[in-house]
Amino acid sequence: MQNVLSALPSVDLLLGRPEVGVLLETHGRIATTQALRESLDALRALLKADAGHAWSAEGIAAECAHRLQQRQQPSQKSVFNLTGTVLHTNLGRALLSESAARAVNAVMQSASNLEYDLDSAARGDRDDHIDDLICELTGAEAATVVNNNAAAVFLLLNTLAMRKQVIVSRGELIEIGGAFRIPDIMARAGAKLVEVGTTNRTHLKDYREGITPRTALLMKVHPSNYAIQGFTKSVSEAEVGTLAHEHGLPFVVDLGSGTLVDFTEYGLPREMTVRQAIAAGADLVTFSGDKLLGGPQAGIVVGRKDLVAKLKRNPLKRALRVDKMTMAALEATLRLYRSPDLLTRELPTLRLLTRPFEDIQAVAQRLLGPMQQAFEGKALVEIRPCHSQIGSGSLPVDVLPSACFAMTPTIQGRGAGTALNKLAAALRALPKPVIGRIEDGALVLDLRCLEDEMGFLSQLGHLKLSERDEAQGAAQ
Ligand SMILES: *Cc1c(COP(=O)(O)O)cnc(C)c1O
Repeated sequence: MQNVLSALPSVDLLLGRPEVGVLLETHGRIATTQALRESLDALRALLKADAGHAWSAEGIAAECAHRLQQRQQPSQKSVFNLTGTVLHTNLGRALLSESAARAVNAVMQSASNLEYDLDSAARGDRDDHIDDLICELTGAEAATVVNNNAAAVFLLLNTLAMRKQVIVSRGELIEIGGAFRIPDIMARAGAKLVEVGTTNRTHLKDYREGITPRTALLMKVHPSNYAIQGFTKSVSEAEVGTLAHEHGLPFVVDLGSGTLVDFTEYGLPREMTVRQAIAAGADLVTFSGDKLLGGPQAGIVVGRKDLVAKLKRNPLKRALRVDKMTMAALEATLRLYRSPDLLTRELPTLRLLTRPFEDIQAVAQRLLGPMQQAFEGKALVEIRPCHSQIGSGSLPVDVLPSACFAMTPTIQGRGAGTALNKLAAALRALPKPVIGRIEDGALVLDLRCLEDEMGFLSQLGHLKLSERDEAQGAAQ
């Protein structure tokens, strides 16, 4: 055994090989040496188990290259979102427009005037880059930006309602996925929640009776991800706003998605716009950057100048501020709204939400043949009509007619469930993972968000559908 092990080349010897030289160039001496050591250790363990195990110096170098390459794989990679949910929080929500991506790129590796006033050569404010644009697009007096809408709501409550009361309807005490609950945020911000009305019905008098000398503000929250149907009553923004102002209190609205354009003009369900909320009397409105707006993750607060100024003076603003890349992406995204007629072309979120059914159906037809071929003997692939969701807590119901591939494993009965999971796993294991959803015993791939057909097709050859494919994959 000692002889077998001592026959192995040393790390130094391996470092001198030309193919290892290439690795040194790419990965550096430290990482390459480490990977060589690990490859040798692995080989030693194999030889101890089987002294006759065949090896070569080329093989060790190849193993080393494989290890280095594996380590270079980014953890966050791009995927095909075929879940049917256009704004999928777990898949990163809105896709940025070309112009937003360019804007991020421009400031990424260069210094910028992020907080520098080029006219006066004095210190500037990063919010200045979007202030005018947002005010123009919403009719608000002032605006500020933080990391996400949860942060916006938090900053607002902490600034205006610490140790005071905030009145919210019981029908609006929502939880958005990922542990964002209005009552919890309220408590952490130091504000006291005063619930009024009932789950299904809240009247103006409920708000009125909830007002005390300790009331800081009246708040409405967009129910986002659920709808109350049947015997219901809620009070409009305008009515709550008027009541608040009669008592000299600010009225704030957490719009959640917050769109800047009238969705019905694009054939989409009605959503209150930020401008409408301001016009209805909201003193402050908060909304997300990466939901219907179609920009980067951000929380935007717009409204009265004096209140926005207070928010900016809160030391927490510094802890919640956004970076230059977010600012660049947001500014570029907002700029697109100056040409609303081009939005369905330029803004991916709106382009995907308004994608015509015929268009999606045509994608399905073009890809059906190659898909059936790729899954031959493993799964039946057929085109079905389906409904996509907007997602991210906007408009909870399925409203967008779409087309999908429904894939059912050829194995039926016992083992069908396992086969279905394997099918889904094989698609997720592709170089650019394909994410669908499982529904009624089928794997459903909604094609609404599939724009890169070539990219999708070109990797079907990498599918590993059988144990043999998997073994080959591991050996490569
Ligand atoms: C989504 C949402 C939030 C949280 O926004 P993030 O940008 O995800 O932090 C808050 N309130 C409402 C009503 C929402 O829909």
